[in-house]
Amino acid sequence: MDQDEKLAEVLAEFAHTLGTDFPTQGMLDHLVQRVVDVLPVTGAGVMLMGNQDHLHVVAASNPVVMRLETLPNELDEGPCLEAYRTGEPVAIPDLGVDQGFPRFSARAVAEDLAAVFAFPMRLDEQRLGTLDLYRDTPGRLASKDMNAGQVLADVAAAYVFNAQARTDSLASIELAHHRSLHDPLTGLPNRTLLGERLEHAMARARRSRRVAAVLFVDLDGFKQVNDRFGHLVGDKVLVAVAARLREVLRPGDTLARLSGDEFVVLCEDLHVPEEAETVARRIAQTLDTPIALDGHALEMTASVGLAFSGPGEDIPETLLRDADFAMYQAKQAGGAHHQVVDHAARLAVDRGEQLQRDLAAALAGGDLQLAYQPIVAARDGGMLGVEALLRWEHPQRGWVPPDVILPIAERTGLIIPLGQWVLGQACRDLRRWQRDYGAAISQVAVNVSPHEVMAPGFAKTVAGVLAETGTDPASICLEVTESVYFDDASRALTVLQQVKDLGITLSLDDFGTGYSSLNYLSQFPFNIVKIDRSFIAALGHHPTTQAVVTAIIDLAHVLNLSVVTEGIETQEQFDRVIDLGSDQAQGYYLSRPLLPDELDEQILDLSRSTAIQLPVSTGQSIAG
Ligand code: C2E
Ligand code: CA
Ligand code: CA
Repeated sequence: MDQDEKLAEVLAEFAHTLGTDFPTQGMLDHLVQRVVDVLPVTGAGVMLMGNQDHLHVVAASNPVVMRLETLPNELDEGPCLEAYRTGEPVAIPDLGVDQGFPRFSARAVAEDLAAVFAFPMRLDEQRLGTLDLYRDTPGRLASKDMNAGQVLADVAAAYVFNAQARTDSLASIELAHHRSLHDPLTGLPNRTLLGERLEHAMARARRSRRVAAVLFVDLDGFKQVNDRFGHLVGDKVLVAVAARLREVLRPGDTLARLSGDEFVVLCEDLHVPEEAETVARRIAQTLDTPIALDGHALEMTASVGLAFSGPGEDIPETLLRDADFAMYQAKQAGGAHHQVVDHAARLAVDRGEQLQRDLAAALAGGDLQLAYQPIVAARDGGMLGVEALLRWEHPQRGWVPPDVILPIAERTGLIIPLGQWVLGQACRDLRRWQRDYGAAISQVAVNVSPHEVMAPGFAKTVAGVLAETGTDPASICLEVTESVYFDDASRALTVLQQVKDLGITLSLDDFGTGYSSLNYLSQFPFNIVKIDRSFIAALGHHPTTQAVVTAIIDLAHVLNLSVVTEGIETQEQFDRVIDLGSDQAQGYYLSRPLLPDELDEQILDLSRSTAIQLPVSTGQSIAG
């Protein structure tokens, strides 16, 4: 093999390793050995520019070269430095003859070297270091060898550059990855990483049949710390708390920060759930010592919620949400306390939230309905009007009773648009009946919740709906429960008077369930009192009830109020309330609440016969 072939071989080796992650050091060690084979030299070394602006030796073919390669740094002179600085090869064919590097030359000669050739390792405009060739006999290198030396130096530069770029990009990928999974303030795993760990933990717990626990830690009153001392102090508190929490964990536990003052501890491989409670207690203990910051001693406590993985509930999000819910319960219990998740309560909240969304969708989507229950005259059983009652058929759960719907609607404020829809729909249905059947139904009673009455502009809203639907106010009765005047009696009085002034009939619903006396009621502009059905149910059973109902009816009449008895389920009850002087009656015995088309049939029956047929039994109407 001649020299050219050998050179080609070395280059091929480089080319081959260029794209691999063959270690830089190994490659350069190999290079300095091979150069000595390929070129007429006795030693070779590679120096690279380091961070401190110093060339430092990274590879040498023998100890002498190793010693010489350290000189440029020490002496701040030498051919290598010159080659690096100028970017041009530097040849010193005879070190015995001064060529501008007296100290370097003296040391080289002392090591029995006679010539040195330094080649800059170049890459475009950059220089990464030098390839230095040594010979123990003086004399120039042929220009072909000088060229070969420079080619090798440049190829080595490309290799080193590549390897560095690869390491750098790996490092930056790793850094970006680390950043995407950690909270910048505390350096703790963030929600994403916690999610990954949870998933793994669940899988492991399934296999090992051990318990995994999640502790949801939320500082009490952290907002006040922020407000009082500012966010910088707040951040320091969080860092300090993170450090304390880290201390109480066992190796293998994960501590993550979700957001703000929310931390989560994931404990794996527990034998029994109680072990996690020990962790919760240790968390409380570690926070017992006030946190000293900027001259303040801050007392911090935390609310901790615990949830465990167990058969059937090992879905990571569920576990985290359960722990969050338990934490919330701990907070509600006053904080500084831990709480194991109450699954029944958690489930109830879930259902409530779902139902709430479904209700809003049903209202928006026109999926609510009204059923109408006839109200008849006690005198002759003739139908005087109907009461509108809300009906909702949930696609999965079937009929949801108003007693479930209304508290949700009231809690979420949905009651306002819901109430408007009920009134509007009742008005539209009434108009249709009046158009199709004349005066068979003269009045519709609509229930309004105290929330609606007390909402700003109630009377105006009602007037608006009536105007919009072209409804005569005299054909509308609003039923309000006693509790309407609990909160602010004078305001309730004002609003109800405004409604009455519109020409609307007002009925006091469920009378007898609250605390009001009829005397007190006389100040309110009611036209009708509806005696609660619990009195009717008790009529036959409790002798005193009859006396009470009699008194209510008599007093109502003295106050010029009509009396409706509701919840009439039997002929006997109907007869009894007529005897006691009730003006109107309503109940399953007379008719169940009916959906509009069922009511249509009813009205047609009525209009065909002159006298009303009672009892009107409609069987098991879904509307009832
Ligand atoms: P309420 O105003 O006392 O309405 C009468 C309730 O008694 C209705 O229950 C009705 O179906 C039921 N009922 C009628 N006859 C009998 C009977 O003979 N025996 C028995 N045991 N019950 C009878 P529903 O429809 O479940 O409504 C419950 C409550 O929900 C209503 O009580 C009312 O306070 C409220 N509500 C219903 N619809 C609305 C509405 O559109 N808006 C508002 N704000 N509240 C409504
Ligand atoms: Ca009612
Ligand atoms: Ca009632």
